[in-house]
Amino acid sequence: MIIICKKSAKEAEIQDLLEILSQKGVEPHPIYGETETIVGLVGDTSKILAEDIEAIDIVKNVKRVSEPFKLANIKFHPNQTVVDAGGVKIGGGNFAVMAGPCSVESEEQIVETAKKIKASGGNFLRGGAFKPRTSPYAFRGLKAEGLRLLELAKKETGLPIVTELMAIEHLQYFDNVDVIQIGARNMQNFELLTELGKCNKPILLKRGLANTIEEWLMSAEYIMASGNTDVILCERGIRTFETALRNTYDLSCIPLLRKMTHLPVIGDPSHATGKAAMVHSLSKATVAVGADGLMIEVHPNPQKALSDGAQSITPEAFDYVMKDVKKYCILEGKLL
Ligand code: PEP
Ligand code: MN
Repeated sequence: MIIICKKSAKEAEIQDLLEILSQKGVEPHPIYGETETIVGLVGDTSKILAEDIEAIDIVKNVKRVSEPFKLANIKFHPNQTVVDAGGVKIGGGNFAVMAGPCSVESEEQIVETAKKIKASGGNFLRGGAFKPRTSPYAFRGLKAEGLRLLELAKKETGLPIVTELMAIEHLQYFDNVDVIQIGARNMQNFELLTELGKCNKPILLKRGLANTIEEWLMSAEYIMASGNTDVILCERGIRTFETALRNTYDLSCIPLLRKMTHLPVIGDPSHATGKAAMVHSLSKATVAVGADGLMIEVHPNPQKALSDGAQSITPEAFDYVMKDVKKYCILEGKLL
């Protein structure tokens, strides 16, 4: 349920309204806009009669929200959320590029890649230290040592770090991480999402391999409902009947999400296609459909990469992609 207050409503009157609503057993979330105040209600609103609320002097209008996601809903929060991660803004007209290898492999690999990403205009260094792999025999990351190497690269370049968390016990190693990535395979790990709601770092929530947009937003809602509203969504391709590429890049979800949520949305053409040759054109397309950022896998020697080599581009190719991404951002009126 959403309550739109009259423009004439005074602060003290809004406070009284919030008190009345709390007494009805729901959680009111006021959003103070430039012209009006909106109060979103979270909880069981089925017993609240819209007519009773509309009868309150300062209330202009009451609307029921039919969608199950509330805090992530654009109706609750008409202005786009801007997430500030390590001094870099994402959303609300700010475009961010997160780039780096699939896995952190060595000091030389991560530091050299980070320097080149920075020189080409990338905003974040990505790199997996705890890797979710389909095979238990595949390289599963350098773990805590990988995080140490990421921190080293951050010190050298000033680039904030994005890296994946798979288990809440590993959070102890994430003190210097700027954005915690929740991978596709953990999108519906509800206990993990609830715990992340209690931490004060932005969360990059990747879309599950076979999840609907509504399920994805409900996972964002889990994080937000336990207190952390800094959630960034990342479309990384979904499973369909098509097998020509690793996944099917659901670019249409980006303009659709714009109408559903205020959260920033980025696209990952690397995991979405599994092919390095697709990254350039789909990076441009990602900007063109209105995304707030990109995640791109970059490796100094993709043929020797310990994971996701086929979809990783070289730093030289990344530089070329960035030149076009910058032009597309100008067309879209985005700040990069
Ligand atoms: C990754 O970013 O390297 C990764 C494992 O991504 P996803 O969860 O989208 O497969
Ligand atoms: Mn990867």
